Amino acid sequence: MSKTMAALNLNAEPGFLRTVVTIDGTDSYEAVLHPERRWNGFVSPFFTLDEARKLASDTLTLADQYGYDCADTVHVIDGGAGSDGAPRAVVLHVRWMYLEDEGPTEVTTVITPTADGRYLIGGWEWTWSIQTRNCPCGAWNDHHVTPCPACDREGDPFALAA
Ligand SMILES: [Zn+2]
Repeated sequence: MSKTMAALNLNAEPGFLRTVVTIDGTDSYEAVLHPERRWNGFVSPFFTLDEARKLASDTLTLADQYGYDCADTVHVIDGGAGSDGAPRAVVLHVRWMYLEDEGPTEVTTVITPTADGRYLIGGWEWTWSIQTRNCPCGAWNDHHVTPCPACDREGDPFALAA
């Protein structure tokens, strides 16, 4: 991406769309992404602060379950409200597995939001995929694809998978 993150407005950026992403069939998160920008086949999703909170909470659960050497964690640090009254927050991504070798600064990324308030989390790094949905006709489609190419049935493009 040529623009800096803080100058990027995904609403105005061609090729980006809203969909739902997942990693290895775990929880699903609404995100904005460019479906053709791939890293080893994986997508790089941008999340709202609310979705980042959900993801952050899930990373802590995974780290508790599998150990911090197996799971990066995401943290939303709240800082009250900004001059415009909007909630202020800083989003951090910590890669615990490298802490002893590299130190806290190197293993921590402060995620700069885009101009429209989206946070790129695990982009070009985690194995994010677009969530697929099984249409009643039997076809499997990417979550945002509606109507179904096989049967023309309309789907709710933003309903999260159960
Ligand atoms: Zn269908």
